[in-house]
Amino acid sequence: MTISGVPATTIRAWTTRGYPSIHYQNRTRGKRKSQFVTMSMPATEEGKTREAPPRVVVCGGGVIGVCTAFFLARKGAAVTIVEKSSVACAASGKAGGFLALDWCDGGPVSDLARASFELHRSLAADLDGPQTYGYRALRTLSLSVQGQEGDEFAGGSGDRKQTKRKNSLPEWVDGHGLRGAPRVIGTPETTAQVHPQLFTRTLLSTAAARHRVELVVGEVEEIQVEGGRVKSVVFKEKIQSQDEDPINRRRVLPADSIVLALGPWSSRLPILSSLFRVSGLKAHSIVLRPRDPDSITPDALFLQYFPGRGGKTLEPEVYPRPNGDVYLCGMSEEGVEIPDDPEQVLGNPESIRMLHRVAETVSSHLRPREAEVRAEQACFLPCTDDGRPIIGEMHDIKGCYVATGHSCWGILNGPATGAALSELILDGHSSIVDITPFIPARFVNT
Ligand SMILES: Cc1cc2nc3c(=O)[nH]c(=O)nc-3n(C[C@H](O)[C@H](O)[C@H](O)COP(=O)(O)OP(=O)(O)OC[C@H]3O[C@@H](n4cnc5c(N)ncnc54)[C@H](O)[C@@H]3O)c2cc1C
Repeated sequence: MTISGVPATTIRAWTTRGYPSIHYQNRTRGKRKSQFVTMSMPATEEGKTREAPPRVVVCGGGVIGVCTAFFLARKGAAVTIVEKSSVACAASGKAGGFLALDWCDGGPVSDLARASFELHRSLAADLDGPQTYGYRALRTLSLSVQGQEGDEFAGGSGDRKQTKRKNSLPEWVDGHGLRGAPRVIGTPETTAQVHPQLFTRTLLSTAAARHRVELVVGEVEEIQVEGGRVKSVVFKEKIQSQDEDPINRRRVLPADSIVLALGPWSSRLPILSSLFRVSGLKAHSIVLRPRDPDSITPDALFLQYFPGRGGKTLEPEVYPRPNGDVYLCGMSEEGVEIPDDPEQVLGNPESIRMLHRVAETVSSHLRPREAEVRAEQACFLPCTDDGRPIIGEMHDIKGCYVATGHSCWGILNGPATGAALSELILDGHSSIVDITPFIPARFVNT
């Protein structure tokens, strides 16, 4: 099976191990009735009534929660985000930020991904994305790289002749271990990037400035339900004072609708874990700043990396960013416990070391003396048991919506998820993309 001429198994396979990226979509379309109850305000002087905006509480300030809040607020809802730590502190801040138009084609998120790629384009135009969050179109290459024993010595020596032989290789990709010719697997028409943390934070600051979206720092503990409908969110608000340790205060926030966008922490809420499981796949990344950033062209690299002493083939990814940084990710680990506190997710030193070796092997510009280390980090991809995201209303609790399980494509699919969910919540159905394949009810009786 190939997508755009690339074997599907090579596309982002490191992040989807155990969670196959290729599923065939059930294309049945269905509309859901609005469950939303509007509230009336007292009569105005002219005797007309004005409807109060619906109150929506979005739990989780990752890319999925923030995109949902953004589109809800743009459609007129009064939105509060409750985030446990800080906005985009987890995977949404540490991801690569790679976007692809058609790499999900043939799978269940194909329409979502295509709609979202276009939304990214229009958001970038609206929010000055190239300046504010590093949005840009990219060429994307697939390469095989042979590491060597003591991989740190395998980096290139600026062998431009070799680089020229491997036609279409950018000059900065000058390592000795490069095997065969690269393949172009994405063009500037079909692949792009954002800085994921800046993207998420820009969306939030815009929504706050234009539509008064509020952010509260607190840990959601409980969803209160009355008569089969959501009533309020109970959370521990973190109040930071200048001289003392933060104080936690219990708060109850009434809501007409609630969106649970808790990423890999979703299963910590019993209301969700009683229906489905969201697991976390740990993955690592490093950010380097080469001494000569201008020599790094906008070419993303998807590598097949054969480590020096044999061993498992790795599939790291390399994303140069417009601010001069080069981001590398990969080295996933299954079955790792997710810490309660997103800020306590630490990288495994061996995995981080391997990413540095990959960097040096690929480019002389990414060797230790040539590049400053800006970040060494890890985070968890939110994965579901059937490999599809979960987007929609809980079948047995009116007004309770879920948006999670986006695995390795949450930055790409955030905007269409948020736009579709905002339509479902406020209009009763989603027109931008059919989200019925993602309804939580698919897990009933499984
Ligand atoms: C190394 C790596 C590279 C990636 N690269 C890409 C890429 O190039 N392109 C792409 O499209 N995707 C990529 N992804 C995937 C993407 O990062 C995720 O799919 C996406 O960030 C998930 O977003 P989220 O909002 O669901 O979850 P998260 O970002 O995990 O956000 C969940 C939020 O909920 C908060 N929270 C948790 N519990 C509570 C609570 N009880 N109360 C309040 N708040 C709570 C957390 O603090 C967190 O901020 C990558 C992921 C990894 C790990």
